[in-house]
Amino acid sequence: MSEEKRTEIGELGEFGLIDKLSEGVKIYHDTTVKGIGDDAAVYDAGDHLVLLTSDMLLEGVHFDLSYIPLQHLGYKAVSVNVSDIAAMNGTPRQMTVSLGLSNRFSVEAVEVLYEGIRAACEAFNVDLVGGDTTTSRSGLVISVTAMGTVEKDKVAYRSGAKESEILCVTGDLGGAYVGLQVLEREKQEFLANPNMQPKLDGYPFVVGKQLRPTARMDVIHEFRALGIVPTSMIDVSDGLASEVFHLCKASGLGAALYEDKIPIDKEAYETAAEFGLDPNTCALNGGEDYELLFTITQADFEKIKNHAEIHTIGYMQAADKGKALVTRSGNTIPLTAQGWKHF
Ligand code: ADP
Ligand code: MG
Repeated sequence: MSEEKRTEIGELGEFGLIDKLSEGVKIYHDTTVKGIGDDAAVYDAGDHLVLLTSDMLLEGVHFDLSYIPLQHLGYKAVSVNVSDIAAMNGTPRQMTVSLGLSNRFSVEAVEVLYEGIRAACEAFNVDLVGGDTTTSRSGLVISVTAMGTVEKDKVAYRSGAKESEILCVTGDLGGAYVGLQVLEREKQEFLANPNMQPKLDGYPFVVGKQLRPTARMDVIHEFRALGIVPTSMIDVSDGLASEVFHLCKASGLGAALYEDKIPIDKEAYETAAEFGLDPNTCALNGGEDYELLFTITQADFEKIKNHAEIHTIGYMQAADKGKALVTRSGNTIPLTAQGWKHF
């Protein structure tokens, strides 16, 4: 009997596994403009493009019910999917929600989860049009699939960046990761002493970033108003460094990133320090910020240079120049991407 080869998923990692699986996938329709490999798949609907994306949240992997209120969890499940539609420069339209529920949940609890889902539908102007409900033996599962649209001349792929274009990011980074540290610490203290009340008051911003992220549809609308079409774009779900790697790989380029230009909120900065963490590392390698990372042409710089929510953090360069981080002290070092490891 021949011995079967066994490769651990951890050896390949999440992205290595997706690459491997996608190798054998055939595309049968010429209306499929983009398959696996971007934030959303793209379908040619004639006069416009349709975007399709799916994200699953698992209890114990992506969230811990001992600290995320169900209402926030519902909101977050929608937000992370809308974020992938935004990353294509699109507008969300419809979505389905599939739930795996254990008998630990009451009808009332599921209703609270749906309050959050409905609040996000209102905030992002998206219609909940279906889904699936089933039992789960291993905790709560929430899978959302979102559909969106974008004009053909406005779609932004990961692959569109050109040399010497400007690399920009919205909002601020690292906050969600720092917020997670606060929540984990309070959970440990609660487990040690259940009579203690969690002390979250001092950290409203970072805890909010972690529990209730907001997809940056506001910025997508601003792009229209400012007459900007990003040449490439991705949402920051796995940490800035990892997303820069994705843009570089898809566009066949390298990039230079200035550490001192990476936007970090004051509360995130101070809280990171309190935990003995380097705020820059949190911004580069923390996860779940759901901001947008994108490139624009030099000609568009004037349009965004004074924008409070858009920060220029570097530029794209030839692939042979590599991916570099210019540190605060002025040294240029190779950028490394840890990303978020689920395996
Ligand atoms: P994002 O973080 O933007 O949601 P992912 O890193 O999860 O993107 O996925 C990258 C790409 O791989 C996307 O195009 C996604 O649709 C695709 N993908 C992820 N998992 C699978 C899978 N099991 N089978 C096919 N495609 C997948
Ligand atoms: Mg994404």
